Amino acid sequence: MATQNYIILFIYYVAAGQNNLYEWVRDHRVHHKYTDTDADPHNSNRGFFFSHVGWLMMKKHPDVIQKGRQIDMSDILADPITAFGCKYINPTENKFVAFVALGEGWHNYHHVFPWDYKAAKLGNYTLNLTTMFIDAFSKIGWAYDLKQPSEELVRTFVMKKGDRSHSLQSVSHPNSKMD
Ligand SMILES: [Zn+2]
Ligand SMILES: [Zn+2]
Repeated sequence: MATQNYIILFIYYVAAGQNNLYEWVRDHRVHHKYTDTDADPHNSNRGFFFSHVGWLMMKKHPDVIQKGRQIDMSDILADPITAFGCKYINPTENKFVAFVALGEGWHNYHHVFPWDYKAAKLGNYTLNLTTMFIDAFSKIGWAYDLKQPSEELVRTFVMKKGDRSHSLQSVSHPNSKMD
């Protein structure tokens, strides 16, 4: 990605007030590795508020810190813009900033298919503005290599592992018909 594009996205990230980027990436890697345990920075067993907003306002559980130290962050440390964000901008001060988790509603899906850029099975823009944002940038070439599972793969997974409460209608992205 061209540097100026990356800087614009980075500014959006900082505006979201979710700690510095290095910390966010490390916490998210810990979250995937130790989901819903004490080492998960936004452990959902601690309640809806904590898992969405509260975790940004509180001291981390010691397990989060300990497991976080074991995460390989060499790729992020090698990135100059992220390193800049860690040294000179301190968005952790913005703890009063609450956020609306746009497009984060399908969390189980995200853990099954973490490589799907939509992080959700539905591409409905009303409920997933983040997808709309990424799609808009893909139209002008800033976002690319967007991956998503086939409808068959999602269907197969839901039939095998799902609790049968899922609707299998409209699992495809609205854009997939146009592509
Ligand atoms: Zn998650
Ligand atoms: Zn994730």
